[in-house]
Amino acid sequence: MSDDTPALEDSPFSDFLGFELLLQDEDRELLTRVHAFMTREVEPVINDYWTRAAFPHDLLPGIAKLGIAGLAYDGPGCPNRGALVDGMVAMELARVDPSMSTFMGVHGGLAMGSIQLCGSPEQRERWLPAMARLELIGAFGLTEPDVGSAISAGLATSARRDGDEWILNGEKKWIGNAAFADLVIIWARDEEDEQVKGFVVEKDTPGMTFDKQEDKIALRVVQNAQIHLHDVRVPESNRLQNATSFRSTADVLRVTRMGVAWQAAGCARGAFEHALRYTTGREQFGRPISSFQMVQDLLVKMLANVTASTAMNVRASQLQDQGLLKDEHASLCKAHSTVRMREAVGWAREVLGGNGILLEHHVGRFVADAEAIYSYEGTREINTLIVGRAITGESAFV
Ligand SMILES: Cc1cc2nc3c(=O)[nH]c(=O)nc-3n(C[C@H](O)[C@H](O)[C@H](O)COP(=O)(O)OP(=O)(O)OC[C@H]3O[C@@H](n4cnc5c(N)ncnc54)[C@H](O)[C@@H]3O)c2cc1C
Repeated sequence: MSDDTPALEDSPFSDFLGFELLLQDEDRELLTRVHAFMTREVEPVINDYWTRAAFPHDLLPGIAKLGIAGLAYDGPGCPNRGALVDGMVAMELARVDPSMSTFMGVHGGLAMGSIQLCGSPEQRERWLPAMARLELIGAFGLTEPDVGSAISAGLATSARRDGDEWILNGEKKWIGNAAFADLVIIWARDEEDEQVKGFVVEKDTPGMTFDKQEDKIALRVVQNAQIHLHDVRVPESNRLQNATSFRSTADVLRVTRMGVAWQAAGCARGAFEHALRYTTGREQFGRPISSFQMVQDLLVKMLANVTASTAMNVRASQLQDQGLLKDEHASLCKAHSTVRMREAVGWAREVLGGNGILLEHHVGRFVADAEAIYSYEGTREINTLIVGRAITGESAFV
């Protein structure tokens, strides 16, 4: 090993087994820059935005400079840095704030991913460079008020061809970034062949209106909206040319589900770090509470959860980089990492005692935000059924 080879001791303490050492130097430097930005610019202000359920638009130029939107994609203007560092960046964002990680997951993962994976070369050229620079912000509209988990068969938003245009009608629920997005990917069922197709609906298109999702108890910074589509006319040139059925939508979700698995590891990791810091500073009975066996037990269990989820996600992202990632791989990682996250944030809250429910100590925000990460992009049950079908050959969906 040469002298300048990074050593395990140089890894952040919460990267216990040194997974970041698997990255190239330039990718590790990117992680360091992302972490510095998040701790310097985001952490000091985010609780205030969370309380007000407001989005920190002022932070977008700084995020744009990091060059992380669509990090894994090789489309025009995209960084093309691969799935492993992309996942680790998602973890890095969530480690400080799950809402900002979700914002980027929707924009850089779901919206850019739909165009990258389902758009024609012209469509990629038209939208991806500006999206990578965060000059255009994207949203992804799949879920509907009456159908979430069963969306592949139950999607009711309709698309009817009318000459060179399509007419969209329906409702979407929970759509992140929607109210301020420049482009919303709307998934709708073609009335003629009954297949699900993707449409890029641009801001201010007549007939598309929004109601902000109010009173959320999780990810309050993320601006979710219900979308109403009433005779929305979209040109054929805005129909994603390679999205021919729900299989295309699922191809996008396979990739972004890995991003959510990484977010979950990051959310758990952030809570663990706050918990460790707190317990070494807080004294009871004349000793730091970190010196008590039962507190150490919880700290070590949190670290084990973070480390196990990271290990699983690293391997799946490596498979993704080799073009070998399957739906069931991403589903296993998402289901496992979110369960382990939910345990870890609960233990972090526990070791903070009463302070665990105060926003000023951050852990309370992670506890609340974990609830949304647990449910979106496929609940634990749905991801379990995907893995169950793969390993048994039997579908237990219905
Ligand atoms: C904060 C947040 C952000 C989101 N952002 C977006 C977004 O940007 N774009 C978007 O399109 N969607 C988004 N979603 C929607 C999200 O993907 C859905 O909430 C999720 O897919 C679950 O659907 P549902 O809420 O309708 O629950 P349901 O499908 O009604 O499920 C309710 C419960 O029933 C269980 N269940 C359902 N079917 C089965 C079955 N066959 N077997 C066993 N159990 C079952 C589920 O696992 C769950 O526990 C977001 C959601 C949240 C909370």
